[in-house]
Amino acid sequence: DPDKLAEILRGWTVDASNPPPSRKIYSADDIKSAIAHQELVNYYQPKVSVENGDVIGVETLVRWHHPKDGVIMPDRFIHIAEDNNLIDDLTHLVLTQAIVQAGKWHQSGLTLRVSINVTMDNLASLNFQDMVVNLVNENNLPPQKIVIEITESQVMGPDARIPLEILTRLRLKRFHLSIDDFGTGHSSLAQLRDIPFNELKIDQGFVHRAWSDDTLRAIYDASLAMGKQLGMDIVAEGVEDRDDWELLRQTGCDMAQGNFISEPLLADDLPRWMDEWQNRVRAGLLDNSPAS
Ligand code: C2E
Ligand code: MG
Ligand code: MG
Ligand code: MG
Repeated sequence: DPDKLAEILRGWTVDASNPPPSRKIYSADDIKSAIAHQELVNYYQPKVSVENGDVIGVETLVRWHHPKDGVIMPDRFIHIAEDNNLIDDLTHLVLTQAIVQAGKWHQSGLTLRVSINVTMDNLASLNFQDMVVNLVNENNLPPQKIVIEITESQVMGPDARIPLEILTRLRLKRFHLSIDDFGTGHSSLAQLRDIPFNELKIDQGFVHRAWSDDTLRAIYDASLAMGKQLGMDIVAEGVEDRDDWELLRQTGCDMAQGNFISEPLLADDLPRWMDEWQNRVRAGLLDNSPAS
């Protein structure tokens, strides 16, 4: 299809009138200092029920509040932490902040599930499990309110035995497990069936505009059907507009996350967002869209 090809090629063309902002590369020492000075701040992105609009939980997404450079997004420092043996310290800080915050929400009657992104290296480190168990105990939190997200590509690496063992032990401790960015890795049905995931998150690349693109739609539909068949809750990521939202409504996806619902928020901003969300739901977000 020549139109499609032209579209792809346009995507590769650099727009000289709009160059990317110069991106400073941070060093391992910069990241180490950011962790030591607790400059890493958790943001929380809401995850809602598609059926009734209930706020089910939030995903923890870390940002670096750099004293000079402003707010730095995770794609600029997570991989540096991973490559320099700092990812355990980073995860420890993010996890501690998130579980303390989850404990506060629970005490105030807000029983949200809190999701946390972890890497395979985190899971393989010896004290990971003890660390999360201690944190939920100290904060009087039921472990099933903590959702551990790991990307499909990391779980299904060359040695799938390691994640299987570790993830199974976390499940036995009643933590919830979520497979992230689904559709971008290559898991086999057998692997998916063996690892006791509670939740499957369809990658945003197969959600936004899937209603208008047959290829995206095929992957979205297959992921949804397979996850449901295996008994998982399905979350669509990257829900950016009303059309995306309506596709989830029509196809029976369980939960939605994305900027249409809310951008990642500071914890203090969550109560006000919840009021606004309730207003949007009352204003007709769950009504059936006009027949199309
Ligand atoms: P992810 O876990 O897949 O998180 C979803 C990403 O999609 C977030 O980007 C989120 O802000 C973004 N997003 C949410 N809604 C929309 C939308 O409607 N449209 C678009 N285009 N994007 C949306 P963010 O916060 O930049 O995080 C990027 C990735 O960095 C995350 O992907 C996650 O893999 C990683 N990450 C973030 N925090 C942590 C962390 O504490 N530890 C580790 N290991 N990784 C983290
Ligand atoms: Mg995630
Ligand atoms: Mg994701
Ligand atoms: Mg992602």
